[in-house]
Amino acid sequence: MTDQLHCSRGCAWPEKPDQPAHPKLATHGTLCDACYLRITEALRTIPELILNMRSQVIPASNFELTERVQGGGDGAPVPLNVGAVDAADALFAKVASWVGAFAEELAIPAPSIRGYLVNNEIQGLRSFALIPAMELTAQLTKWLARHIDQISASPTAATFHDDIWEGWEDSPGVVKLSRRYGSEERKPRDAQKRVCPICGKKEVFAAAPSTFDPEPMVLCGLCNWTADLSKKPEYLEMFQSA
Ligand SMILES: [Zn+2]
Ligand SMILES: [Zn+2]
Repeated sequence: MTDQLHCSRGCAWPEKPDQPAHPKLATHGTLCDACYLRITEALRTIPELILNMRSQVIPASNFELTERVQGGGDGAPVPLNVGAVDAADALFAKVASWVGAFAEELAIPAPSIRGYLVNNEIQGLRSFALIPAMELTAQLTKWLARHIDQISASPTAATFHDDIWEGWEDSPGVVKLSRRYGSEERKPRDAQKRVCPICGKKEVFAAAPSTFDPEPMVLCGLCNWTADLSKKPEYLEMFQSA
Protein backbone atom coordinates (compact mmCIF):
# COMPACT_ATOMS: atom_id res chain seq x y z
CA MET A 1 0.00 0.00 0.00
CA THR A 2 2.96 2.31 0.47
CA ASP A 3 4.15 2.21 -3.14
CA GLN A 4 1.14 4.08 -4.45
CA LEU A 5 2.10 6.86 -6.84
CA HIS A 6 -0.66 9.42 -6.33
CA CYS A 7 -2.34 10.82 -3.24
CA SER A 8 -4.98 8.35 -2.04
CA ARG A 9 -7.39 11.27 -1.62
CA GLY A 10 -7.24 12.02 -5.34
CA CYS A 11 -5.68 15.48 -4.92
CA ALA A 12 -4.60 17.29 -8.09
CA TRP A 13 -2.66 20.40 -9.02
CA PRO A 14 -5.04 22.79 -10.75
CA GLU A 15 -4.69 23.61 -14.43
CA LYS A 16 -2.45 26.55 -15.21
CA PRO A 17 -1.65 28.35 -18.47
CA ASP A 18 1.64 26.49 -18.77
CA GLN A 19 0.61 23.09 -17.43
CA PRO A 20 -2.47 20.88 -17.40
CA ALA A 21 -4.09 19.71 -14.17
CA HIS A 22 -2.24 16.70 -12.82
CA PRO A 23 -2.47 14.42 -9.80
CA LYS A 24 -0.41 15.17 -6.72
CA LEU A 25 2.25 12.63 -5.81
CA ALA A 26 1.93 10.55 -2.67
CA THR A 27 5.04 11.93 -0.99
CA HIS A 28 4.12 10.82 2.55
CA GLY A 29 2.97 7.22 2.47
CA THR A 30 -0.31 7.36 0.58
CA LEU A 31 -0.78 11.11 1.07
CA CYS A 32 0.41 14.20 -0.82
CA ASP A 33 2.27 17.04 0.91
CA ALA A 34 -0.90 19.11 1.34
CA CYS A 35 -2.86 16.29 3.01
CA TYR A 36 0.10 15.47 5.23
CA LEU A 37 0.49 19.11 6.29
CA ARG A 38 -3.27 19.40 6.88
CA ILE A 39 -3.23 16.43 9.23
CA THR A 40 -0.18 17.80 11.01
CA GLU A 41 -1.92 21.15 11.41
CA ALA A 42 -5.14 19.51 12.62
CA LEU A 43 -3.28 17.55 15.30
CA ARG A 44 -1.52 20.72 16.42
CA THR A 45 -4.84 22.59 16.63
CA ILE A 46 -7.02 20.02 18.43
CA PRO A 47 -5.84 20.55 22.05
CA GLU A 48 -6.39 24.30 21.67
CA LEU A 49 -9.86 23.66 20.22
CA ILE A 50 -10.69 21.40 23.16
CA LEU A 51 -9.56 24.15 25.51
CA ASN A 52 -11.75 26.71 23.75
CA MET A 53 -14.76 24.40 23.74
CA ARG A 54 -14.33 23.39 27.35
CA SER A 55 -13.88 26.96 28.47
CA GLN A 56 -17.34 27.52 27.01
CA VAL A 57 -16.42 30.80 25.48
CA ILE A 58 -18.60 31.49 22.49
CA PRO A 59 -17.08 31.61 19.95
CA ALA A 60 -13.35 32.14 19.53
CA SER A 61 -12.23 35.02 21.64
CA ASN A 62 -8.83 34.47 23.13
CA PHE A 63 -9.14 37.73 24.99
CA GLU A 64 -12.22 36.57 26.87
CA LEU A 65 -10.55 33.26 27.58
CA THR A 66 -7.49 34.96 29.03
CA GLU A 67 -9.63 37.28 31.10
CA ARG A 68 -11.58 34.42 32.49
CA VAL A 69 -8.70 32.09 33.23
CA GLN A 70 -6.79 34.84 34.96
CA GLY A 71 -9.86 35.91 36.88
CA GLY A 72 -9.42 39.44 35.56
CA GLY A 73 -13.09 39.94 34.79
CA ASP A 74 -15.85 40.85 37.20
CA GLY A 75 -16.58 37.19 37.86
CA ALA A 76 -19.78 37.16 35.83
CA PRO A 77 -20.32 33.57 34.71
CA VAL A 78 -19.95 32.87 31.02
CA PRO A 79 -23.18 31.23 29.80
CA LEU A 80 -22.86 27.48 29.84
CA ASN A 81 -22.53 26.20 26.31
CA VAL A 82 -23.68 22.59 26.48
CA GLY A 83 -23.21 22.18 22.74
CA ALA A 84 -19.55 23.07 23.07
CA VAL A 85 -18.99 20.57 25.87
CA ASP A 86 -20.65 17.84 23.81
CA ALA A 87 -18.58 18.79 20.79
CA ALA A 88 -15.39 18.58 22.87
CA ASP A 89 -16.41 15.11 24.04
CA ALA A 90 -17.12 14.01 20.48
CA LEU A 91 -13.83 15.35 19.15
CA PHE A 92 -11.94 13.68 21.97
CA ALA A 93 -13.71 10.36 21.28
CA LYS A 94 -12.82 10.66 17.61
CA VAL A 95 -9.13 11.21 18.38
CA ALA A 96 -9.08 8.45 21.02
CA SER A 97 -10.63 5.92 18.66
CA TRP A 98 -8.00 6.64 15.97
CA VAL A 99 -5.24 6.22 18.55
CA GLY A 100 -6.75 2.83 19.40
CA ALA A 101 -7.07 1.84 15.76
CA PHE A 102 -3.53 2.86 14.78
CA ALA A 103 -1.96 1.40 17.92
CA GLU A 104 -3.48 -1.94 16.94
CA GLU A 105 -2.77 -1.68 13.20
CA LEU A 106 0.83 -0.55 13.62
CA ALA A 107 1.41 -2.69 16.72
CA ILE A 108 2.72 0.30 18.70
CA PRO A 109 1.76 0.76 22.34
CA ALA A 110 -0.92 3.43 22.77
CA PRO A 111 -0.03 6.32 25.07
CA SER A 112 -0.30 5.47 28.71
CA ILE A 113 -3.33 7.30 30.03
CA ARG A 114 -4.01 4.84 32.82
CA GLY A 115 -4.75 7.60 35.27
CA TYR A 116 -7.74 8.57 33.19
CA LEU A 117 -9.26 5.13 32.89
CA VAL A 118 -12.13 3.81 34.94
CA ASN A 119 -12.74 0.09 34.42
CA ASN A 120 -10.36 0.35 31.45
CA GLU A 121 -12.49 2.91 29.67
CA ILE A 122 -11.95 6.59 29.25
CA GLN A 123 -14.83 8.38 30.84
CA GLY A 124 -16.21 11.29 28.84
CA LEU A 125 -13.87 14.21 28.67
CA ARG A 126 -16.44 16.18 30.65
CA SER A 127 -15.36 14.47 33.85
CA PHE A 128 -12.05 16.33 33.65
CA ALA A 129 -11.33 19.95 34.44
CA LEU A 130 -10.30 22.31 31.70
CA ILE A 131 -6.53 21.91 31.80
CA PRO A 132 -6.45 18.11 32.38
CA ALA A 133 -8.92 17.73 29.49
CA MET A 134 -6.57 19.64 27.22
CA GLU A 135 -3.50 17.77 28.45
CA LEU A 136 -5.14 14.41 27.98
CA THR A 137 -6.10 15.37 24.43
CA ALA A 138 -2.57 16.62 23.75
CA GLN A 139 -1.14 13.25 24.86
CA LEU A 140 -3.23 11.59 22.17
CA THR A 141 -2.57 14.13 19.40
CA LYS A 142 1.16 14.11 20.15
CA TRP A 143 1.20 10.33 19.94
CA LEU A 144 -0.52 10.53 16.53
CA ALA A 145 1.91 13.26 15.41
CA ARG A 146 4.88 11.16 16.50
CA HIS A 147 3.71 8.25 14.37
CA ILE A 148 2.40 10.35 11.50
CA ASP A 149 4.76 8.88 8.89
CA GLN A 150 3.56 5.33 9.58
CA ILE A 151 -0.03 6.53 9.80
CA SER A 152 0.28 8.29 6.44
CA ALA A 153 1.37 5.00 4.90
CA SER A 154 -1.66 3.18 6.31
CA PRO A 155 -4.51 2.15 3.98
CA THR A 156 -6.82 4.14 6.24
CA ALA A 157 -4.75 7.35 6.05
CA ALA A 158 -7.24 9.07 3.70
CA THR A 159 -10.19 8.18 5.95
CA PHE A 160 -8.25 9.41 8.97
CA HIS A 161 -7.52 12.69 7.19
CA ASP A 162 -11.16 13.24 6.22
CA ASP A 163 -12.53 12.27 9.62
CA ILE A 164 -10.18 14.58 11.51
CA TRP A 165 -10.05 17.49 9.05
CA GLU A 166 -13.59 17.74 7.63
CA GLY A 167 -15.52 15.23 9.69
CA TRP A 168 -19.17 14.49 9.12
CA GLU A 169 -22.52 16.11 9.78
CA ASP A 170 -22.95 14.46 13.20
CA SER A 171 -19.26 14.37 14.04
CA PRO A 172 -17.55 17.52 12.77
CA GLY A 173 -13.82 17.75 12.31
CA VAL A 174 -11.31 20.52 12.80
CA VAL A 175 -12.57 22.70 9.93
CA LYS A 176 -16.09 23.11 11.24
CA LEU A 177 -15.07 23.27 14.91
CA SER A 178 -12.41 25.89 14.21
CA ARG A 179 -15.02 28.14 12.65
CA ARG A 180 -16.99 28.04 15.87
CA TYR A 181 -14.38 27.67 18.56
CA GLY A 182 -11.03 28.54 17.05
CA SER A 183 -9.37 31.09 14.90
CA GLU A 184 -9.79 31.19 11.15
CA GLU A 185 -6.97 33.58 10.74
CA ARG A 186 -4.15 32.40 8.59
CA LYS A 187 -1.18 33.71 10.47
CA PRO A 188 2.27 33.69 8.97
CA ARG A 189 4.37 31.27 10.98
CA ASP A 190 7.72 32.33 12.25
CA ALA A 191 9.49 29.94 9.97
CA GLN A 192 12.76 31.36 8.86
CA LYS A 193 11.75 33.70 6.09
CA ARG A 194 13.46 33.44 2.74
CA VAL A 195 14.49 35.92 0.12
CA CYS A 196 11.82 36.65 -2.48
CA PRO A 197 12.94 35.91 -6.06
CA ILE A 198 10.83 38.81 -7.32
CA CYS A 199 11.21 41.74 -4.91
CA GLY A 200 14.45 40.57 -3.29
CA LYS A 201 13.21 41.15 0.28
CA LYS A 202 13.44 38.45 2.94
CA GLU A 203 9.68 38.22 3.34
CA VAL A 204 8.82 34.79 1.92
CA PHE A 205 6.98 32.75 4.54
CA ALA A 206 5.13 29.43 4.83
CA ALA A 207 1.36 29.51 5.49
CA ALA A 208 0.23 26.15 6.87
CA PRO A 209 -3.10 24.72 5.69
CA SER A 210 -5.92 26.36 7.59
CA THR A 211 -9.67 26.19 7.72
CA PHE A 212 -9.59 29.37 5.67
CA ASP A 213 -7.52 27.82 2.90
CA PRO A 214 -6.75 24.10 3.03
CA GLU A 215 -3.79 24.36 0.65
CA PRO A 216 -0.33 24.98 2.09
CA MET A 217 1.25 28.08 0.55
CA VAL A 218 4.64 29.71 0.41
CA LEU A 219 4.36 33.37 -0.45
CA CYS A 220 6.01 36.77 -0.21
CA GLY A 221 4.37 39.05 2.33
CA LEU A 222 5.50 42.13 0.46
CA CYS A 223 4.86 41.59 -3.23
CA ASN A 224 2.47 38.57 -3.05
CA TRP A 225 4.73 36.31 -5.11
CA THR A 226 3.59 32.71 -4.55
CA ALA A 227 5.84 29.68 -4.92
CA ASP A 228 4.53 27.09 -7.36
CA LEU A 229 4.87 24.07 -5.08
CA SER A 230 4.21 21.69 -7.97
CA LYS A 231 7.45 22.87 -9.57
CA LYS A 232 9.42 23.91 -6.52
CA PRO A 233 8.77 21.25 -3.87
CA GLU A 234 11.97 22.36 -2.10
CA TYR A 235 9.93 25.18 -0.57
CA LEU A 236 7.96 22.57 1.40
CA GLU A 237 10.95 22.30 3.74
CA MET A 238 9.84 25.63 5.18
CA PHE A 239 6.89 23.94 6.85
CA GLN A 240 9.20 21.79 8.96
CA SER A 241 10.30 24.76 11.00
CA ALA A 242 6.85 26.34 10.96
ZN1 LIG B 1 -3.72 14.77 -1.02
ZN1 LIG C 1 8.44 39.66 -2.84
